[in-house]
Amino acid sequence: MKRLQMTNRTQPFPIALAIFPLLEGVFFIEATQHSHPVAVIALLIASAVMLSFSIHIFFHECVHYRARYPQTINLLYSLFLGLPFDGYRVHHLNHHTYENGLKDFSSTWKRQQGENVAHSVCRYSLGWLRQLKAAMQAPHPFDPRWGNVVAIKSRIPIQKIALVVFSLLLVLIDLKLLLLYGGLIYLGWAFSSLHNYGQHPPTEQSPICTYPSKIYNQLFFNNGLHWEHHQQPQHHWDQIKLASQSPRIPSPHLINPCATKLPFLGHLLLVLFIILGIVLVIVVVLALLAALSVYVSCSSMTF
Ligand SMILES: [Zn+2]
Repeated sequence: MKRLQMTNRTQPFPIALAIFPLLEGVFFIEATQHSHPVAVIALLIASAVMLSFSIHIFFHECVHYRARYPQTINLLYSLFLGLPFDGYRVHHLNHHTYENGLKDFSSTWKRQQGENVAHSVCRYSLGWLRQLKAAMQAPHPFDPRWGNVVAIKSRIPIQKIALVVFSLLLVLIDLKLLLLYGGLIYLGWAFSSLHNYGQHPPTEQSPICTYPSKIYNQLFFNNGLHWEHHQQPQHHWDQIKLASQSPRIPSPHLINPCATKLPFLGHLLLVLFIILGIVLVIVVVLALLAALSVYVSCSSMTF
């Protein structure tokens, strides 16, 4: 087993990466404001895709930040995730310990009649609740060098209570809000599982795969460099460099499982991905310009 530590991260709140939970929230609120089913479903799917990127980019970076967060932050993160933030921490540390082996809760393989058999993409993604069940039942989910499992698990019950209280509040306001929130969380984690399947395709060699596209990695904060992340998980996202020996896949992780079967769909989704990335950049630039103009107008009022 590799000697692994998570010591290089110095940013408890990776602010640039927070664009994904921010957009998740914006799309979700927009979905609650519409009555036309097509608009609601489209906005909910957009919000769920953002949740998936939130998990793989923003919350993933937070999980690797070793210092303990204040409880209020843990609770806030849990509401965005729809599951306890420290439960996700347990799940991810298990993933780094076993790296898609059979003890990995998110393994894309299963053991059947003495052989390793690949999970089907659909059952794996839509059946992500099985991973949750396995994580909840495992007494020793990860190598203790990754962290103190007792301390991490001790923070989970209050995060569960916060989620129950939040759900009750949604029901009190409008049952539709709870149904939309439930839909967002289920779909978001299904997309997240699909993304994980792309990172660890169950081929004969079962490698951890990298998507090397420069533009993708600039737009999605080096999220494509997954093999490199597993080799040096202690590195902050912007310290990761593409390695010449990393196993590669031809499409972004989220769409690669479908793209390998349907190349046309893969190309179409890739174009949509690039458009999505460009929209993200425009949103960030506009937000920065708006913040700058507010700052300038406040400064001029002072003088
Ligand atoms: Zn990781």
